Amino acid sequence: MLIDTHCHLTKEYYDDIDKVILENKKAGISKIIVSACDVNEYEEVISYAKKYECVYLSIGIHPEFASKTTKKDLLYLEQVVKSNSKVVAIGEIGLDYHYTKDNKKEQEELFKKQLFLAEKLNLPVVIHSRDAVIDTIRILQEFPSLKGVIHCFSGSKETADIYLKMGYKLGIGGVLTFKNSKLKDVVEQIPLKNIVLETDSPYLTPDPYRGKKNSSKYLPLVLDKLSEIKKIDKEQLMKILIDNTKDVFRM
Ligand SMILES: [Zn+2]
Repeated sequence: MLIDTHCHLTKEYYDDIDKVILENKKAGISKIIVSACDVNEYEEVISYAKKYECVYLSIGIHPEFASKTTKKDLLYLEQVVKSNSKVVAIGEIGLDYHYTKDNKKEQEELFKKQLFLAEKLNLPVVIHSRDAVIDTIRILQEFPSLKGVIHCFSGSKETADIYLKMGYKLGIGGVLTFKNSKLKDVVEQIPLKNIVLETDSPYLTPDPYRGKKNSSKYLPLVLDKLSEIKKIDKEQLMKILIDNTKDVFRM
């Protein structure tokens, strides 16, 4: 039994959603948390959460929309989260200075509004942070009661330590399987209880399928790698990962 704590599942990426769900089951994936971070995706992913028992949701507004997000969008987000019991987190939300640095203020504002919402609704957060570690940590420190996952963590051991001290877990995925990945050394050094697994599919496909479209069904490849790095039996590791996931998300 494995839970994919972060994936994207829409018709934009997959022609046949039924088939994806079936393949996941065959691969031993018992639950998936679908991340919808564009208001235009909410309706579609809610329909999947209703149709498939294994689908849970993480709903938010991605920093890439910081400059065009309206008050109405934020109200819509709140209403969606409140009215769907399968929403288990607010996310992915955060800062992304990789694509644009010109709207840092707007990104921070959108990020904070959603952190307030998570606080108000007592939900964990899924954090997207790209080329923005210092600001991400500074802002999260203003919300000490929140917990959640640093999605697709790829930072240093020092950065990992800061997040862990703040009570966050690290989302680890396909990058762990890449040759020359520095993530292996960091993962080797951090306690297992602070790790949850994710694919971020359709992106970041693990080896040996790197370059192909990712799917939750490839999560066992990440598990294999983690089991090798941590020198722990896979069955035992899966139990720990389920506990870690349930420690963050109510599911
Ligand atoms: Zn994502």
